[in-house]
Amino acid sequence: MDLKTLELLTSLPGGSGQEINVRKVMEDKLSKASEILKDGFGGVFGKFEGTKDDVKVMVCAHMDEVSLMVTKVRCDGFLEVMPIGGINVEAFVSQNVLVHGNKEVRGLISSIPPHIAKGQTIPDFSAVVLDIGCDSLEEVKELGIGIGTYATPIPCFYLTENKKYVVNKAMDDRLGCFVVSEIIKKVEKIKHPNTLYLGATVQEEVGLRGAQVASNMIKPDLFITVDVSPASDYLGRDDSGVLGKGFLIRYFDPRNIMPIKLREYFIELATENKIDYQLFKSAGGTDAGAAQYAGNGILATTVGIPGRYIHSPATMVSVKDIESAINFVTKLIEKFDKETLDKLHE
Ligand SMILES: [Zn+2]
Repeated sequence: MDLKTLELLTSLPGGSGQEINVRKVMEDKLSKASEILKDGFGGVFGKFEGTKDDVKVMVCAHMDEVSLMVTKVRCDGFLEVMPIGGINVEAFVSQNVLVHGNKEVRGLISSIPPHIAKGQTIPDFSAVVLDIGCDSLEEVKELGIGIGTYATPIPCFYLTENKKYVVNKAMDDRLGCFVVSEIIKKVEKIKHPNTLYLGATVQEEVGLRGAQVASNMIKPDLFITVDVSPASDYLGRDDSGVLGKGFLIRYFDPRNIMPIKLREYFIELATENKIDYQLFKSAGGTDAGAAQYAGNGILATTVGIPGRYIHSPATMVSVKDIESAINFVTKLIEKFDKETLDKLHE
């Protein structure tokens, strides 16, 4: 596996609305596409012609990560922040972050030591400060930091000792971007009976916004987002996202019910090709929830990869699951033709 590219993509900073660094890398990966399409929000996609042109398949991932935004600079130099995307405050307490002003500045989210806590807890981000070591508002200003400035976790990429798992910030969803980048390489070597659009969306973490405009621009017949989903194996559960047991067929989430025929097709395709998968029910939505409304309504779903501790400064994923997601989506691209589409719509 190309761990260098995985490290690069998961280490880049890119909160929702600030995906520019990731977009540059993804656009570069799409250099062999016959056409580059960009939506008005910042999504980027490459078109790959197949042996037939009567079906459009779109495979993408979202480039944004959960982040923080400065809402106030106090006169004593402390920064007040709010979460951009769904974050439990405890995941960021006492964590180091990068603050993106004129340059990248390191800072620390406050915590309360037991000596002075006296039963006091931290319910949300209004109870913490971001401390960049500045003593005054003027000093903060000089760094180009103010209201609206983003902060993201510091990269911490590593492969575990047994080489089975990888850890970094922003796995959700740069891992999806990595899977798309691996599929771009494979598509150069395979034949596919469809017109394929590979790329990446923006602003998923704040309400699936980029997918809405991108899917309306491309109007695919089948939309697949590759995204990281919360594993619960460390809680002693084996019924919802276990690391190492294969990619996730997300049969239900609050924003998207996987069409039954599409679910059966996914199971059949994975089984035929001996690709490990797990059936997964999620409490949150993905880009598929917005993309399904494109045109008159399209087939849209998620190819998930389980991740432990998502929406935090460090997430662990399995190398085997990444491989199963890449293999499954590649097989699907090789097989998905008009006949398959018509059967799914019968
Ligand atoms: Zn995601």
